[in-house]
Amino acid sequence: MSARKSARTVEVARGVHWLPLRGANAYFVHSGESWVLIDAGFPGCGRIIAEVAERLCGATGRPESILITHGHLDHVGSAVGLAAAWNVPILAPMGEMPFIDGTALYPEPLVAWLARVLPRRAMEALVRDSDLGDAVRPFEPQAGVPGLPEWACVPTPGHTPGHVAFFRPVDRTLIAGDAVLTMAWSSRLGGRGAGWLWDLVRRKPRLSGPPTIFTCNWRDAAASVVALAELDPWVLATGHGTPLAGRHAAPALGAFAARVAAASVC
Ligand SMILES: [Zn+2]
Repeated sequence: MSARKSARTVEVARGVHWLPLRGANAYFVHSGESWVLIDAGFPGCGRIIAEVAERLCGATGRPESILITHGHLDHVGSAVGLAAAWNVPILAPMGEMPFIDGTALYPEPLVAWLARVLPRRAMEALVRDSDLGDAVRPFEPQAGVPGLPEWACVPTPGHTPGHVAFFRPVDRTLIAGDAVLTMAWSSRLGGRGAGWLWDLVRRKPRLSGPPTIFTCNWRDAAASVVALAELDPWVLATGHGTPLAGRHAAPALGAFAARVAAASVC
């Protein structure tokens, strides 16, 4: 038995286990007899995710699939290795496919900056490296959430074009990816203003929009925050930060969405 300290998970809603990883969150979600992993952390997180899977997922020791909210490296970094080790698919929203199949890079500020400073061949290599390979299977958000029949898929474009969130109406549990964050961050949606940097340093819970340099379309991102607030979540579990749960979650998200809507971001 390993002497390493076991990874800590917290059940933030019935059958929804939050796994805080280095720099990002992953969630194990139970449905019926099976499990799904939602998002897969940075590269190098595979071992800790696999260890948790062995503990949670019963006889098979693995989930049925790896579901992703979007294709950023901090959400898919360990997905390919885990998919191979578990022999399961990586299920990706259809709108994310060009950015994870080696076709294109995200239309985000970081990529625009890289295109200015890197030679064309280096950019072409980045495009090729974005290909997650044959384990990826696209799904249509309108068709529901593969493997999670109690859940709905909520298109939340803006941070990335095909970004989705996952929502379970029966107990209003929301897994929001990076459409909204439960931590201070530098974002055009709510990240500025007095104290955000200090809150970030202290890792103080605070709602924020998605990170500025990684976000593709601010008008869509603002509309997605408003759409998520309308779900009135009891649990708000995001890609970064500690999940919010309880009667304060929806009012906090509602107040944040009102500020975002009033700011008329474009
Ligand atoms: Zn992201």
